[in-house]
Amino acid sequence: MRFRSTNSHESQVSFKDVLLRCLPPDGGLYVPAKDVDMRQFFLYMDEDATFPDLVAAVSPSLLQGELNPFSAARVAESALEFEPELKQLDENISVFNLHNGPTGNYKDFGVGFLAAALEELLKNNSRAMVLSAVRTGSGAILGRAFQGRRGLAGVMLYPTGSIRGLDSGGFVSNGGNIIPIQVRGNLDDCQRLRNEILSDEVFSRQHNITTANAVNLGRLLPQAFYYLYAFVKLRKRVSGDLVFSVPSGNFGNLISGLYAWKFGLPAGGFIAAMNANNALGDFMLGGEFDPRPVTATSSSALDVSVPSNYARLRSFYDEAPAVMRNMVFPASIDDNKMCAAMEQAWKQYGILLDPPGAVAFAAARDFSQSGKVPRAHTVILATGHPAKEAGLVKMSTGQTAALPEKLALMEKEAQPIALIDPDLDALKRAITDCV
Ligand SMILES: *Cc1c(COP(=O)(O)O)cnc(C)c1O
Repeated sequence: MRFRSTNSHESQVSFKDVLLRCLPPDGGLYVPAKDVDMRQFFLYMDEDATFPDLVAAVSPSLLQGELNPFSAARVAESALEFEPELKQLDENISVFNLHNGPTGNYKDFGVGFLAAALEELLKNNSRAMVLSAVRTGSGAILGRAFQGRRGLAGVMLYPTGSIRGLDSGGFVSNGGNIIPIQVRGNLDDCQRLRNEILSDEVFSRQHNITTANAVNLGRLLPQAFYYLYAFVKLRKRVSGDLVFSVPSGNFGNLISGLYAWKFGLPAGGFIAAMNANNALGDFMLGGEFDPRPVTATSSSALDVSVPSNYARLRSFYDEAPAVMRNMVFPASIDDNKMCAAMEQAWKQYGILLDPPGAVAFAAARDFSQSGKVPRAHTVILATGHPAKEAGLVKMSTGQTAALPEKLALMEKEAQPIALIDPDLDALKRAITDCV
């Protein structure tokens, strides 16, 4: 498969280039240059197949010429030491737990695959540096995914304040490849520095610098695989069409579902489950996208004004607006309804959901009652571990969500390798000192 910018059908690039450049020079976002039908690789797959089995079967055909079956199997195995977990709750509803990774967040899948694929594609011949502006949550996800990868260094720029969830055993100071740098400033300063260093052609070429932020297509494609996996698990067990309820902020997860559908996933639709930050819903129903300032809610992972994947979503609608309106169903769930959904999921099914998961649950409930897709089987994507929001979970359900032992590190504070002023030269010096 080749990839192009949302702004142009010319100049197609390879997957490796997508990973190493992150953004096309014309200001668009990378998208697959054309649809590929991958049904033969998953439609009749045994329901006992593991997730790495599925990834190893599907990705060589998707990334033909770049990942052969052996390298794909290596990537799948090294990236995915954890599995998505599908639990059917009753005839009409399943919950899809995507928080079994090292940081308890669904983004572990996409970033983990990106890191492993980059390591494989560089094949010892060259080195690359993945530099990202992060906060605690995203820093932990990136740190854990890149830690120990051959030929790769992970630079984390984070603002004044603490950062938790990084494993200091993987830092350059301890012989590892992770370089956390604290910037005297806020997240905007970190993002500005990241953009400045990426556009410093000499320096960024010298160190082969790329970034792994939410818009890197290398994170979205592997997420498409778990939608196929959910289908494989449910194919023989349910009769209705699958409708996925996706808690959506920057819309990376939902776009991944749409890619899975383009690859041949038999899906009846996708619920774009938003909280009060729902301006994109108007656009999905045929109106204009009129962004509003962010409203702070209890499902803060979904508090986004202009989703960073908007251009990708837009390209789907430009191509086939009527089809999209029958495929993507926007929903908006306020905090009260979210908490009520947490309680209901516990009382009715004995499951604990984190706030985004509860938003998806409530949206799925409303959707089933709407009758838009008769006999739909809704799959709720549970994107975050409930123990990470234990206070809200306790308040809504009375239950204590236990933190799994492997997530204990998430609470631990890490010390930076360097503390710098928000200044490009200071950043370059800090990097040069480490490599
Ligand atoms: C990032 C995140 C989301 C939103 O995913 P998008 O791809 O940005 O729409 C949902 N839930 C959790 C727990 C997240 O961390």
